[in-house]
Amino acid sequence: MALILDAQKILIGEKLEEDYVVVVDEEEGKIVDIIERFESELTHIPVKSFPTGSILVPGFNDTHTHLAQYGANLSRPNVYRFTSRAELLDFIRDYIRKEEKDVYIFLGYDENRWKGEKTLTRRELDAVSRDKPIIVRRVCGHRAVLNSKAIEIVGQVEGLDVETGIAVEELPLKLSVYFPPSKGEIEEGILKAQEEALSQGITSITDITRPMHFRVYQKLHREGKLRLRVNIILYEEDLEAVSLAGFEYFFGNEKLRFSGIKIFLDGSVGAGTAAFFPDRGLLTKTDDELKGLLKMATDRNLQIAAHAIGERAINQFLNVFESLFSENPLRHRIEHYEFPLPEDIDRTARLGVPVSVQPNFVYLLCHEGQMYTRKLPSRISSRCNPYRRMEEAGIHYAFGSDNMPMDVKMMIKGAVEHPIEPQRLSMEEALYRMSTAGAFFSFEEDIKGKIQPGHRADLVVIDEESLEPLMVMVDGQILKG
Ligand SMILES: [Zn+2]
Repeated sequence: MALILDAQKILIGEKLEEDYVVVVDEEEGKIVDIIERFESELTHIPVKSFPTGSILVPGFNDTHTHLAQYGANLSRPNVYRFTSRAELLDFIRDYIRKEEKDVYIFLGYDENRWKGEKTLTRRELDAVSRDKPIIVRRVCGHRAVLNSKAIEIVGQVEGLDVETGIAVEELPLKLSVYFPPSKGEIEEGILKAQEEALSQGITSITDITRPMHFRVYQKLHREGKLRLRVNIILYEEDLEAVSLAGFEYFFGNEKLRFSGIKIFLDGSVGAGTAAFFPDRGLLTKTDDELKGLLKMATDRNLQIAAHAIGERAINQFLNVFESLFSENPLRHRIEHYEFPLPEDIDRTARLGVPVSVQPNFVYLLCHEGQMYTRKLPSRISSRCNPYRRMEEAGIHYAFGSDNMPMDVKMMIKGAVEHPIEPQRLSMEEALYRMSTAGAFFSFEEDIKGKIQPGHRADLVVIDEESLEPLMVMVDGQILKG
């Protein structure tokens, strides 16, 4: 069955057009034609029309996420809402009775909200259960309380007071290391996070993730439950295993692919470890180490995704890259790219290095009074995320959320309401970077991401004002709207 989608505007190429409608083949899951609006009245194809102010764009592509990891937290109940210790303990008791799990982890308690008793220790949790491990983490993430069974499992951990069961820093911050989620929890988490992504119109992602998550993605794909298109990037510690196993970029299919390895070149602004000239922050690799990694990955046909936030890390990547290569067929990419030197912007374009940027960081961190303007001297913060310059230089860049948070509206607003006015993008440009531009990163620009015949019918209609999705379509199937 064919279907015509008629929105007020359509993103064709990089332009919003007004006079066209899109013909979709629902069975094939592909776009079959773009025709002028008046022609649609001459066909017998059913038309789905959208109101004034609607924009039809290719499905959004989140080019840098940690969806599976994020999902694992969704599978753990949040207990922030409780306003007394007794309520919290009742909830935990009830939950344990109903749900069969190896370990019970509850997130988000806040004793400041509690009426009456404000302490929580091992004793109260032991009263709920002595033979099922229970961990309750505070809303800040830096403190958790364990019952005796949980303490027995983790043994001696720095910052854990066995007497009270209260653990600070190490254990609460690395909960998923000490208590890895089960396969079932990861699966449940990915499915929930997938719903959240699709409901916003995100139809493709690159998940920078762990092998245990990759396994669950494969299971979901085998069972036909994967509706997002997922491109997997693993971390540096898996490079050896990936090479030995013989994986190369573009391995997989239109639903689930693998492209390469993520490496870190610096830290973050918040932690004071993003690398700036002359000596602010720190580079996590020497030039030689980076050279070795880039060479090895290239020899083995693996794409490198290099985390580089500060100008010194970005500069290091470009220097080392340029000393090795004159072109970039593997599309080795830079992640974040928040403070490039002006002269490096043109060089990035010339070397053909694609860049994944996070405009939600612009929205949350770059405005007056927000973290970047507080932590960084204004000569640096005033160069934050220069999208207009990148646009002019012709860099191949696309939006990604880094799951902090996964929020399409926030990403678009981050770009079009950029605090540095000359760097703002238009709505048209922001929509292009949120939808079309990402397919290039996973070598899929001929398969998806454009409204053109032959491309996957992954489409979103949004309202121009509210940015709210009015329809989400994947493979020609309407999931919402
Ligand atoms: Zn990330």
